[in-house]
Amino acid sequence: MSNTDFMLAVEDLSVSFDGFKAIDNLTLYVDRDELRVIIGPNGAGKTTLLDLVCGKTRASGGSIKFVNREMTGLPEYEIVRAGVGRKFQTPSIYENLSVFQNLAVSFPRGRGVFGALAFRTTDEVRQRVTDVATEIGLADTLEREAAQLSHGQKQWLEIGMLLMQEPQLLMLDEPIAGMSVRERELTAELLKRISKGRAVIVIEHDMDFVQQIADKVTVMHQGKILAEGSMAQVQKDPRVIDVYLGH
Ligand code: ADP
Ligand code: MG
Repeated sequence: MSNTDFMLAVEDLSVSFDGFKAIDNLTLYVDRDELRVIIGPNGAGKTTLLDLVCGKTRASGGSIKFVNREMTGLPEYEIVRAGVGRKFQTPSIYENLSVFQNLAVSFPRGRGVFGALAFRTTDEVRQRVTDVATEIGLADTLEREAAQLSHGQKQWLEIGMLLMQEPQLLMLDEPIAGMSVRERELTAELLKRISKGRAVIVIEHDMDFVQQIADKVTVMHQGKILAEGSMAQVQKDPRVIDVYLGH
């Protein structure tokens, strides 16, 4: 298929589970510097789409190009190494390590056993931890044990752990679930900041939050794209009101 300037180009993507088409011939392009929000009813295939892009689930057809390189068929770790970061709904941080340690262990260690053995907290690691901690608003909590962080701070820490790998594409599934109003505001600012120079894809249900952050909204339904455009455009689309917003 053709070359593209998009950060992410998903074309004619499909996957079936026992004959049920969870993703049905879906085409989606995401630009650099873009913060894309995906909405849609439960079961629409949103999480499955992210599973396919990060290599957790294997496509039955179609293409996923990341910076023009075909990703379908690559193992998950290769996709991570290529620059794709994925945050799941439950944070997977090390509760008994400090914020500093959580970030430091997420620094890419180079390949193979030698890379892992040679790992030390070098000045380079320390510098990156400081930069990332500032970015996620945890610069003052570096020595605190992760278990003591608030729910929102834990979510930011996990985003920070992904940022340590310097991903070019970051995907987040319902990142503000369970957050306080203030934490939601700070997360909106954080997501806008980190989309600069990258692409960020966020799955979200909270329409006020979507309104705050989205450059463009993609509405999924039954494994397909139902509508795509600005928040204002999709909000007045009768098909979107019918299957999603009207409920
Ligand atoms: P959403 O995130 O939009 O709520 P999902 O992507 O989680 O939707 O699910 C889409 C559909 O695919 C659902 O009907 C779900 O039950 C089904 N599905 C997702 N993953 C699997 C799987 N690994 N095996 C079987 N069915 C699955
Ligand atoms: Mg989901």
